[in-house]
Amino acid sequence: MEDSIEEICNENKYLINLRIKTTKMIKKIILLLLIPFLGFSNDTDTLFYERGEIYFFFEYKNKKQLNSISDIISIDHKTNSEIAYAYANKKEFTEFLKLGIDYTIIPHKPLNFLNGNKNNWDYYPSYQEYVDMMTAFADSFPNICKLHNLGTLTSGRKILIVQISDNVGQKEDEPSFLYTSSMHGDELSGYILSLRLINYILNGYGNNQRLTDLVNEIDIWINPLANPDGAYYGGNQDVSDARRYNSNWVDLNRNYPDPEDGPHPDGNSYQEETTIFLGLADTVNFSISANMHSGAEVCNYPWDTWSNLTADNNWWEYVSHEYADSCQANSSNGYFNYLNDGITNGNDWYEIDGGRQDYMNYFRYCREFTLELSDDKTPDPNDLPDLWYANYPSLLNYLEQSLFGLRGIVTDSITGDPLKAKIEILNYDIDSSHVYSNLPIGNYHRYLYQGNYNVTFSRSGYYSKTINTTILNNTSTVKNVQLVPINWTPNSINEEIKNKQQSLYIDILGRPLKSKENIPLIQIFNKGTSKKKIITE
Ligand SMILES: [Zn+2]
Repeated sequence: MEDSIEEICNENKYLINLRIKTTKMIKKIILLLLIPFLGFSNDTDTLFYERGEIYFFFEYKNKKQLNSISDIISIDHKTNSEIAYAYANKKEFTEFLKLGIDYTIIPHKPLNFLNGNKNNWDYYPSYQEYVDMMTAFADSFPNICKLHNLGTLTSGRKILIVQISDNVGQKEDEPSFLYTSSMHGDELSGYILSLRLINYILNGYGNNQRLTDLVNEIDIWINPLANPDGAYYGGNQDVSDARRYNSNWVDLNRNYPDPEDGPHPDGNSYQEETTIFLGLADTVNFSISANMHSGAEVCNYPWDTWSNLTADNNWWEYVSHEYADSCQANSSNGYFNYLNDGITNGNDWYEIDGGRQDYMNYFRYCREFTLELSDDKTPDPNDLPDLWYANYPSLLNYLEQSLFGLRGIVTDSITGDPLKAKIEILNYDIDSSHVYSNLPIGNYHRYLYQGNYNVTFSRSGYYSKTINTTILNNTSTVKNVQLVPINWTPNSINEEIKNKQQSLYIDILGRPLKSKENIPLIQIFNKGTSKKKIITE
């Protein structure tokens, strides 16, 4: 029986190889017919003694059943229409056993991936090499790269992130962009691709026009390893014993506040890693981000938690296809074409509660999707260069998307001070799809599929303003907006005393007027009223 489990794994490994895709489903079905499901007879303590988590698969009846099982255990990305792959810790597995569903445990096979070469990027670094690389990026490019330690875990390992921009660390009229990878510690494609992307961008600055522009115009943040305790579970020397969960056997991608299920959807406290990312999202107002995983090859766009579509579903489909199409064009046949030609709505695939993507979209007004970069969770290092060549054009395209759509700066019409305002499209926005402008600059970034939109800018204490604008894909539309304060008391700018009332004349954009002739204007009185008129004197 041991042997046949090994065979399943070996076979699966072939099935999920980058190059063999077309016969995948058929083979899987045949396999299932041939291999009987194994009953569970091991003692659970023994089973969880070594790794604290197990990986297994089972057949499920329908989506509804799968969604309810997903509340108990951690369904994996590999899930298809007949079989679900899943992870569980001891507590979760004990709950799963109560359902009486047949399952097959997939034994963990330690990987031996130590033979690659750092210079060829066909290599997984040790933990210390990783820290050294991140340090070296900042040391070698101090003008455009800063290293931040977002937090040190109880284990002593750090959550590191580099920030890349011209005038790095200074707030500018730029979108803040986030790439983060490997919150599932055994999903390591994005770990290496992120490191290589950092290296590529930094070395391209000043040499490659496109990279130079991206660095000049975007506040770029890249975190290659969001779950170092999972990735280096077997020790800091290598990732050969990487696992999904963190050191408390918690799936970090079920640990976030959920739009539908509220705080603690997984019943666990917020983990150290989660708290660190909640803090980051609180500090940096990311406009757009991507969360890298592996175990499949597909762009997964929101929502995961419910079947509602986002207001910007056509934009999501557009940028997801852009990502997948470019991966397909830059790889051998069969890569990144899973589900709907390499893209899927999250909930359509399988439901996740407490995922990071939904948190960022719903609670942080950010646009985040999930990139599943390779069928192999921890690819053979020899495949990493191919993965890079397939993905880096897409990674740059998505980075560049942060510059497009509707953007501008919102200010107070009288003082010129930047404002945090709500930017909303009435009768269009749903489920928290509006955005806010960010202080201290007042800049906002709203990503929209091409079309015509009435966009309303509002802030309490100000008159709302609605503008009509036309958006084109892959194009920036800049609309700077001034909001006129209600109850403004004039004191220093163009004050006038007229009929014993203090008042200020401003034009329809809210700017103080020098000449008042033949211009429609708004007169604001210090008692808080205003009136529109045209002066023809
Ligand atoms: Zn994952």
